[in-house]
Amino acid sequence: MTITRVAIIGLGLLGGSIGLAVKARDLAIATTGWDRDPSVRERAAERGLVGTVCERAEDAVTNADLVILCVPVGAMGDAARAIAPGLAPHAIISDVGSSKEAVASALAEALPGACIIPAHPVAGTEQSGPDAGFATLFAGRWCIITPPDGVDPAALEALSDFWTALGSKVELMDAAHHDLVLAVTSHIPHLIAYTIVGTASDLEDVTQSEVIKYSAGGFRDFTRIAASDPVMWRDVFLTNKGAVLEMLGRFTEDLTAMQRAIRSGDGDALFDLFTRTRAIRRQVIEQGQDDERPDFGRQHPD
Ligand code: NAP
Repeated sequence: MTITRVAIIGLGLLGGSIGLAVKARDLAIATTGWDRDPSVRERAAERGLVGTVCERAEDAVTNADLVILCVPVGAMGDAARAIAPGLAPHAIISDVGSSKEAVASALAEALPGACIIPAHPVAGTEQSGPDAGFATLFAGRWCIITPPDGVDPAALEALSDFWTALGSKVELMDAAHHDLVLAVTSHIPHLIAYTIVGTASDLEDVTQSEVIKYSAGGFRDFTRIAASDPVMWRDVFLTNKGAVLEMLGRFTEDLTAMQRAIRSGDGDALFDLFTRTRAIRRQVIEQGQDDERPDFGRQHPD
């Protein structure tokens, strides 16, 4: 099956980046889009995020071979219901949501009998909205596809080929396993960043201006993550509750062990952990997942 028309629902960071990537890579694919927010639709048209911005959800998906829902995970069911009247019988319905089991259930409930293949491009930034998207967001990044049992192999191949054409590396995974892996690699780190920044802003003996003034000591790297979209992340934690709570239990135990090591002056325990974590950073860089320049390549003027 060949994908020649793609409809993008939700024209923020992810939706806009998909539309721009299709255009920049000159793929022979026509794009349409819709967002529930009229001001987002207007800005999307100005930036040319998709070929045609439609005023109604069902018009955006008419004749689309592939529909990609790029809305917060808690809004997937509503978005799916909005497009239902216009869907072509052969259309593949996919998404970019950061949690997968809950999205798969919401889509199956909203669109019974449709060809649903959830996916999650592991690529993003802390920015959101129609000005945030850029064409190279997916280049060299993983896109995890979580096909349900009994999926049409031709549809799965077409979706994989689409993400490969955007520059992504594709991996297939079971939805529950995806949710566990992403709980460790993305959801818990975000929760820790939100918590640390929140704790610092609640301090009474250290002023907020001091926290900001001396933030280069490490704090500012947490503030980037903690600036991520509140709606998106609220929904991620509510929809990936089980895996997040399981991983948070493990993390809390490890944190308690660190507390104990510091209190008892167990320098070996601290040194061993910090040596192991340094090796992880080396692997992240070796696998091309980050910039190897010190301090994330920030400019340090003389
Ligand atoms: P975003 O920039 O905020 O864009 C989402 C857009 O969807 C907003 O314009 C929003 O409008 C619109 N929307 C909300 N509910 C809708 C509905 N029912 N129907 C139509 N449009 C609706 O968010 P994003 O960062 O692109 O995230 C989109 C999805 O990608 C999320 O599921 C997220 O988990 C996933 N994701 C994000 C990242 C990341 O780093 N940001 C990475 C990978 C995957 P309103 O402003 O009116 O709500």
